[in-house]
Amino acid sequence: MACLLMAYAQKKPKINDNKKAVIASVESQAQQLTALSDQIWAYEEIAFQEFQSSKALSDYAEAQGFRVSRGVAGIPTAFTAEYGSGEPVIGILGEFDALPGISQKAVPTKEPRNVGAPGHGCGHNLFGVASLGAATAIKELIEKGALQGTVRFYGTPAEEKFFGKLWMIREGLFDDVDICMDWHPSAETKASVQTGLALVDFIVEFEGQAAHASSDPWNGRSASDALELYASGINYYREHIRPTVRIHYHIQDGGQVVNVVPDYARLWVRVRDTKREGMEKVWKQVERMAEGAAILANVDYKVSLVSGVHEVLVNRTGASALQANLEYLGPITYTEQEQSFAKKIQQSTGSERVGIESAINPLEETLENPIGGSTDVGDVSYVVPTIRLSATTAPKGTPWHSWAVVACSGMSIGHKGMHYAAKALSMTMVDLFENAKLRENMKAEFKERKGDYAYKGIIPEGPPPIEAAN
Ligand SMILES: [Zn+2]
Repeated sequence: MACLLMAYAQKKPKINDNKKAVIASVESQAQQLTALSDQIWAYEEIAFQEFQSSKALSDYAEAQGFRVSRGVAGIPTAFTAEYGSGEPVIGILGEFDALPGISQKAVPTKEPRNVGAPGHGCGHNLFGVASLGAATAIKELIEKGALQGTVRFYGTPAEEKFFGKLWMIREGLFDDVDICMDWHPSAETKASVQTGLALVDFIVEFEGQAAHASSDPWNGRSASDALELYASGINYYREHIRPTVRIHYHIQDGGQVVNVVPDYARLWVRVRDTKREGMEKVWKQVERMAEGAAILANVDYKVSLVSGVHEVLVNRTGASALQANLEYLGPITYTEQEQSFAKKIQQSTGSERVGIESAINPLEETLENPIGGSTDVGDVSYVVPTIRLSATTAPKGTPWHSWAVVACSGMSIGHKGMHYAAKALSMTMVDLFENAKLRENMKAEFKERKGDYAYKGIIPEGPPPIEAAN
């Protein structure tokens, strides 16, 4: 046994004192971080309404000695927390919004905590807290004089809807940042090197004339007829789009009662593609089709842009630095109770009962056309070279944005992933502060991948749509 331990100790690469210090800092913050994430988990607040969650995070930052600016970029729940001065400026992102309708207790079978209420089905209660824990570990080193520069935590609301980061970028809050980091809860642990999908959200409204559905329907012009024709048009169009494109719509209003010809109908439409250029072509066509549906149903129509996000500009140089730290930390280990919880989750959601593991695989290839979701971190990655981490907070096969992720995000499997993320992020930030060459190389890769594209966020003029969130 002693020999085995020695062999392991020899194999393990050495880390410097600053990295040892950030690991120790995360360990000493562990209980507070867990309590903070459970608090935000229980607040279960959705986009632009994360008042308690934002306050809990910014209060924690303030108590640690960060300079906190609340309500930035015209968003009451957006904030920044900064420590230190001068260069480099290293940013770290933290999200904290929940998703509507998936409230769940921290148990492995479907059981809502508050029926119909939101839930943390994307693990953002862990996301914001781990990033702030990592920023705090770095702050302690700056305070001691062991690192020079500025660490800035971004409290970024409304990632699940509206995409809060876009207004923070437009406000210029990322203009002086050298490198940014973020992470996301996941069913695996890895440096993220996939681009995800660009997307756009817009609202289509139809307005007609109400009438009695039976006694004088000839006086009516039906907005819901237009809605059905429009949706049919979209579904016919699916045959003629590239396989990388996704189109979704959500019917928000299709009329109220059966005996009135509806005079109003409304859909939320979303178009995605792996590349922004591909998305834009389909976006314009799907917008145009609203006019066709309006003509057919003899109603008026209106299309309003909500917002959209860029695909992620990957930075493999940064990802490699993160990868080395993941390999040092090794996989997360789980107790028997956690394994049994994971298997019950898998059983209740119809996936294979294989349990949970967080093996560290070699750095993946960056795929030309990945599958997956979208994030407003994509926009940050077009403004600042960004390193992205995925850390295991739920077992493989767990349906994302579901009650099952809410369950895992409120118990020890989620907490472990969060502590792990805080360590990996802060270790990589140590690299970023100490290693000017790494920052330079990341910037060179960023420049090369971005080319001459001039970033412009997909948002309408004017203030963020805080009112629309209510
Ligand atoms: Zn998310």
